[in-house]
Amino acid sequence: MTSGTCDFFVIGGGSGGVRAARMAARLGARVVLAEAAQLGGTCVNVGCVPKKLYSYAAHYADDFADARGFGWQVGEPVFDWATLRRNRAAEILRLNGVYEQLLASAGVQMVTGWARLAAPGCVEVQTEAGPQRFEARHILVATGGCPSVPDFPGREHVVTSDAMFDIDPFPRRLLVVGGGYIACEFASIFNGLGSRVTQLYRGSQLLRGFDDDLRHHIAQEMRRHGVDLHTSAQVASITRVESGLDVALADGRRLQVDAVLYATGRVPNVSGLGLEALGVAQGRDGAIRVDEHYATSVPGIHAIGDVTARLQLTPVALGEAMAVVDRLFGPARRRMDYDFVPTAVFTHPNIGTVGYSEAQAREKFGAVTVYRSEFRALRHTLSGRQERTLMKLVVDTASDRVVGVHMVGPEAGEIVQGFAVALKAGATKAVFDATVGIHPTLAEEFVTMR
Ligand code: FAD
Ligand code: NDP
Repeated sequence: MTSGTCDFFVIGGGSGGVRAARMAARLGARVVLAEAAQLGGTCVNVGCVPKKLYSYAAHYADDFADARGFGWQVGEPVFDWATLRRNRAAEILRLNGVYEQLLASAGVQMVTGWARLAAPGCVEVQTEAGPQRFEARHILVATGGCPSVPDFPGREHVVTSDAMFDIDPFPRRLLVVGGGYIACEFASIFNGLGSRVTQLYRGSQLLRGFDDDLRHHIAQEMRRHGVDLHTSAQVASITRVESGLDVALADGRRLQVDAVLYATGRVPNVSGLGLEALGVAQGRDGAIRVDEHYATSVPGIHAIGDVTARLQLTPVALGEAMAVVDRLFGPARRRMDYDFVPTAVFTHPNIGTVGYSEAQAREKFGAVTVYRSEFRALRHTLSGRQERTLMKLVVDTASDRVVGVHMVGPEAGEIVQGFAVALKAGATKAVFDATVGIHPTLAEEFVTMR
């Protein structure tokens, strides 16, 4: 068995791990990073990046239809799934190479293989050439998560988001189960690409935890776009039949589809890591428990990102990486601040949101003032599309501080990102009112609501 020593051993080359490894190496630490699969992790390979590329692809369906009202004669558009998959795969391969380059130029030693905690301060990696052991002053677990599918008869017939990027053949009839980020995004994407999409959600309204107006509005818009959305609905069993998959619902209804996507949450990647043997405290689904400095219950072992099952977003994993590396190796003392973390759901139309929902704000602040605007965007006066945009501000009445910005509409994520800066800075409604709008835009509505 070969062996080595380092200051910092990072397990997992995804969003958090790569950022932590690069930063620590730049601060002079001797860093080794183990990655079992492709560099870039979930976000680059089967998450944010390919998902957003497919979302762009799906938006063209609307664009071709909308163009007619502006005088364009477009022939019957033809979508080629193989081209999209091939181009996406090439781009992801390019990004894998960029990540490798970034790590190499920062001086990070990379090891390909599954890593596990062999003993305190010691990591063992199963490489193609055999096991390798490393003694490390600090170990960072950044192993992310993976999709979780409940047990039920016919579970073996379903796929998860990981497989959707390359699913073959293209599913003409797709059932999406779940009402969270992934279910809503993939229902929108495959609907746009031409699948007949049915979405089943067990609750009464999609996207639990988001602002209620926003939830109601996106459900309405997704239906308007063609998603056949059923709430308070559950799958009982799935059977393979000659024409595809026969899905029996708990209420006795039946559906025939080509594929079933389960987007029912993700669980931390902890199996085989050796956490139990070392006594690393874990929570629900095995999530690694950390304190405010990302230290686990075992000295010398830290954990960040999805494996801690907190806010599962790439920028959060990046922020946590920088905070932990600063603390271990840097003079600076950066902290990850979880207040006002903005987020987007790339449904069609998009959702952008930051801060408190109306209900959360009422609970926290008591009296709140709500400003709400729902309208048909200028673009759609000529496109003929009936899509409506929702924009909403939630203001703490006592302090006049804007504590929630919510939007369902084109490029909502792009728009809300800027407003997140204002919320972080503590902007009041008076400041919003004193801000001059950019006309004609959708975003100006946020500074003109009275
Ligand atoms: P990951 O990026 O998952 O990286 C973990 C890495 O560790 C993986 O490469 C894995 O192979 C490796 N690994 C695991 N175990 C071992 C081991 N024992 N040894 C060696 N290597 C190991 N977030 C956003 O902010 N915006 C989005 O638009 C967005 N879209 C998403 C879409 C989808 C379909 C999914 C699934 C997620 C999306 N996310 C999005 C969430 C985002 O991808 C994650 O929050 C982020 O990737 C978490 O980073 P991480 O470093 O914690 O883990
Ligand atoms: P979510 O936790 O967002 O949603 C899971 C959904 O599945 C919920 O609607 C949940 O219902 C439902 N569900 C859970 N268990 C079952 C079950 N046994 N049967 C039926 N339905 C079930 O998880 P996702 O998988 O959508 O995404 C994981 C995380 O990845 C997200 O939370 C997000 O942090 C991140 N992500 C971020 C994206 C972005 O930033 N744009 C995009 C994609 C993912 P209920 O509400 O009733 O619990």
